[in-house]
Amino acid sequence: MVIDSLLPSATASAHAHPVAIGGVVIGGPTVPVISGPCAVEPDYVAHARAAASAGASVLRGCVHKPRTAPEAFQGMGSAGLALLDEARRVTGLPVIAEPLDVDQVAQLVPHVDALMIGARSMHNTPLLRAAGRTGLPVVVKRGMSATIEEWLAAARYVLLEGNDQVVLCERGIRTFETATRNTLDLSAIPVLRDRTELPVIVDPSHAAGKASLVPALAIAAVAAGADGLLIESHPDAEHALCDSAQAISSEVLAEVVRATELLVTSARPSPATTIGQCRDAIDGVDSALARLLERRATLVARVERIKLDTGVPIRDHGREAEVTERVALLAPHLGQAGATAVMSAVIDACIATALAGA
Ligand code: PEP
Ligand code: MN
Repeated sequence: MVIDSLLPSATASAHAHPVAIGGVVIGGPTVPVISGPCAVEPDYVAHARAAASAGASVLRGCVHKPRTAPEAFQGMGSAGLALLDEARRVTGLPVIAEPLDVDQVAQLVPHVDALMIGARSMHNTPLLRAAGRTGLPVVVKRGMSATIEEWLAAARYVLLEGNDQVVLCERGIRTFETATRNTLDLSAIPVLRDRTELPVIVDPSHAAGKASLVPALAIAAVAAGADGLLIESHPDAEHALCDSAQAISSEVLAEVVRATELLVTSARPSPATTIGQCRDAIDGVDSALARLLERRATLVARVERIKLDTGVPIRDHGREAEVTERVALLAPHLGQAGATAVMSAVIDACIATALAGA
């Protein structure tokens, strides 16, 4: 389970430039999920509540939408700003939104906690500069045909305004492949670890273009070391006014958040030093342990069912000693005595509940 030694380039330890959106740290020990509908719609507050209940840490709140076709819904514009205020108030979560031009930067600032520069705007240098001057965190999405060097150059336009709160967001690039909307370039994460200290997040939604593909890409991004995720979600995805095909439901979002926490706990070293930080990290480990214990109990129930059906004795002390021995080897801090205490309790509990349910 603990695979951090395999991931030197895919962990937060390689870089040291956390960015805070409201109170949410990107590039720290946790991997926050930014989520909400593609565009702010009249029911946005309900959508924001659903994203918050599913475990999102930051809300997408795009009132202006860059759309390929001028006939498509362009977002609610200034009419959506009050909804951002209300969503922030009821969920307590920070909000990120995308300005499409320099004038929209000043309009958004009182209503948001961070700005997002969209893929189509990555080359818009006046916009990058204006976003940088606000001092708010700026998420710079990769242009759909931008190289990593061009993307980093875009980020420098923000940095050069004296704003070091910059996050890079991989969202898929244009390739010959048409099965997905874009091709998610996960190699960008370890490549960037060597070139920048800026946190890197991943948007699997615009890469996939299809909701069913989003969880796999999200989890792959976390495994590759992403510092955060930007995911489009909608409680009634079918009727979303923008990008409905790629919006995941609130239930799927909750699963992605849980899987992300599990993966981060299992695969990344914890930098915790204070009592509070250690307790947070321990809570994460306990959640991971609980899920694994649940899986173990289910497997034991299956084994006991077969044993009962075939007349094999329930207890196998040789096998139990082997299990304990392996745990003692894998958990040297627990030691032989600790491993014996823990595993005999686990084995007894799993067998007892299996027999009770048999
Ligand atoms: C978005 O995130 O709202 C968006 C339009 O994505 P991109 O700029 O990556 O296409
Ligand atoms: Mn979208």
